[in-house]
Amino acid sequence: MSRYEHIKEEAYKANMQLPALGLVLFTFGNVSAADRGLGVFAIKPSGVPYEDLSPDKMVIVDFDGKTIEGGLRPSSDTLTHAVLYKHWEKINGIVHTHSTYATAWAQSLRDIPIYGTTHADHLTSDVPCAAPMSDEMIKGDYEYETGFQIMNCLQAKGMSYEEVEMMLVGNHAPFTWGKTPEKAVYNSAVLETIAHMSYLTEQIKHDAPRLKDALIKKHFERKHGPDSYYGQA
Ligand SMILES: [Zn+2]
Repeated sequence: MSRYEHIKEEAYKANMQLPALGLVLFTFGNVSAADRGLGVFAIKPSGVPYEDLSPDKMVIVDFDGKTIEGGLRPSSDTLTHAVLYKHWEKINGIVHTHSTYATAWAQSLRDIPIYGTTHADHLTSDVPCAAPMSDEMIKGDYEYETGFQIMNCLQAKGMSYEEVEMMLVGNHAPFTWGKTPEKAVYNSAVLETIAHMSYLTEQIKHDAPRLKDALIKKHFERKHGPDSYYGQA
C-alpha cells in the first residue's frame, strides 16, 4: 500500500468531478491534490480518458516536477502545478480545464468584468487574464513558464492567491486553485458559470454597468470574513 494513497484518492475523485460538471471533453483538463507534509502532489496521468482512471493510476510528483511514484507519465501540465505549489504554500489543489466560456474569455485576452452578485460572492475584482506568453517563454520550458505567467500576473495586479483563486491564461484557458482539491474544482465550476453569465450580459447589453462597490462589498462579506452570515456556520 502506497503512503500516498490518500492524495491519489483525493486527486482521482476531484478529477472525476470535471466530466461530471461538464467542464471537460475527452482527456482535456487535470486536477492535482497536494500533501504539504510529504512535499508531493498526486496528478492525473497524461492522455488517459476519464472513464479509464482509477486512484492507482494517479502519478505522484514532487514540487520540482520530478515523478516520485507511478507507472504512467503525469499530465503534460504537471510543471505548471509544481511551480504553483512550490511558491504558493497555502494551496493544496489545482485545476486546469478548457471549459468553453472561460476559455473563450481567455482567447479574447479579456479579464471577466464583475457584472453581478454571483461573481461578487466569490471575488471582489474582475477575473484576471494573464497576457499571452512571450515567444521566449513558449520556446523555453513552456509548462514551467506558464506557472510563472500566472504568478507574475497576480503580482502585477497586486492580488493575492489566497483572495483570488481563479485566473485565465491569455490565448489558453483557465486555472483555479484552493486550500483543497474540492475547493479548486468548485472554483472551476464557479468560474465557468461567471464566464457564461458575463458573456450573456454583454450580448444583451454591450455596455452593461459593472457592479456597484456597495454590492460587491456586501455580497463578498456575506460569505467571507469575520461578519459572514451565509450558510450554517
Ligand atoms: Zn491547457
